[in-house]
Amino acid sequence: MPTINKNWKWSEESKKRQSEIRKGVPRGHYKPKENVGYWGLHDWIKRTLSKPDKCQECHKSNKLDAANISGQYLRDINDWVFVCRSCHKQYDMMINGKI
Ligand SMILES: [Zn+2]
Repeated sequence: MPTINKNWKWSEESKKRQSEIRKGVPRGHYKPKENVGYWGLHDWIKRTLSKPDKCQECHKSNKLDAANISGQYLRDINDWVFVCRSCHKQYDMMINGKI
C-alpha cells in the first residue's frame, strides 16, 4: 500500500482551478463516473493535452498520469493535469473527501 502524505496539500494553482471548474459546471451536467466513457476520455486527453516533462504538482517525477481535478471527468482540458502516481493518489483522495 502506498503511504499517503498527510501534509500533502493542493497547490494554490490546483485549488483555484478546482474551484473555478466546480463553479463553471451546472449541476445538471454532473454525471456519475460510471456513465462516463473513462477510457474514451483518456484517449481524448492523450490526443488533446500535451504531456509535460515533469509532474505538474511536485515537479519531480516524470512518470505521469492524467489526473482529473474536479472529480467530474470533464472533457475540458482545464479539468486535467499530468501528475505522478503519488500526486495522483493524493488528488483522488482529495476528490473523494478522504483528506
Ligand atoms: Zn508529483
